[in-house]
Amino acid sequence: MIVLKNNEFIERNKATIDMEDRGHQFGDGVYEVVRVYDGEVFLMQDHLDRLQYSLDEVEIKYDVKEQNLSSLLEQLIKKNKVHDGGIYLQITRGVAPRNHPYPKNAKPMLFAYPLELSRPLQAQANGIKTILQKDFRWLRCDIKSLNLLGNVMTKQKANNANAGEAIFYRDDNHVTEGSSTNVFIIKNGKLYTHPADNYILNGITRRYILFLAHKLNIPYKEKVFGLTELKEADEVFMTSTSAEVTPVVEVEGDKIANGQPGPISQQLLEAFFQYNHVEQLT
Ligand code: PMP
Repeated sequence: MIVLKNNEFIERNKATIDMEDRGHQFGDGVYEVVRVYDGEVFLMQDHLDRLQYSLDEVEIKYDVKEQNLSSLLEQLIKKNKVHDGGIYLQITRGVAPRNHPYPKNAKPMLFAYPLELSRPLQAQANGIKTILQKDFRWLRCDIKSLNLLGNVMTKQKANNANAGEAIFYRDDNHVTEGSSTNVFIIKNGKLYTHPADNYILNGITRRYILFLAHKLNIPYKEKVFGLTELKEADEVFMTSTSAEVTPVVEVEGDKIANGQPGPISQQLLEAFFQYNHVEQLT
């Protein structure tokens, strides 16, 4: 495997990270996962714009455009002959003696490498079970930060319960998102999802689904909903770069409608590939 380290392409076994990289001590960095379909990054510019947003919010001085990151990622895909899969990339604040404040002279450290991502066809056909988890994460979920321990603990809890995902809620009237996904509900033909604020990551797939809803004349609204609306929805589905659109058929033991993936979720999943030549959402 060829790995991108800053501007250099190197073999994976040469891709070492310094013990004092702040990514390790503090989770002091940000990341992206992009999807590759047919050798091309899907919605590259939207991912790069979100990466720049995360970098700016935590004041890591790395300019995605200046570094020509899109071209570096294209080269990485070619060198590894990625046809269908993904790329993981992270940028940390760099290496410095351990101390909380931002160090003055640390140089941001980028790593990117291919991920094997296959389409979750079975989950998409049958839908998945989910559990609920009180959202105990920080209040800057809009930053795609390396601090994923809350998400990791929660995904493990879902795994232990034989569920495919856990859905976070701040209180009974406020469902936020999944541990690694955004959540949508459908009621009386209308689509609802949490507004893009500090409580959720503004998923690129979430935004793509809103774009598809617009194209397909499915009415939608970004609004907060609660646990009752979630459980009494006609359809529920989750979205992410790796899950694409995956229907949810059970929430904490309660079936959603008749316990089968619903028609609008299926319509959106089908539309997903009809429009995947779209270059940029905004
Ligand atoms: N929310 C969280 C917490 C996530 O980790 C992810 C995936 N990284 C998403 C939502 C979905 O984002 P995207 O569609 O950009 O993959």
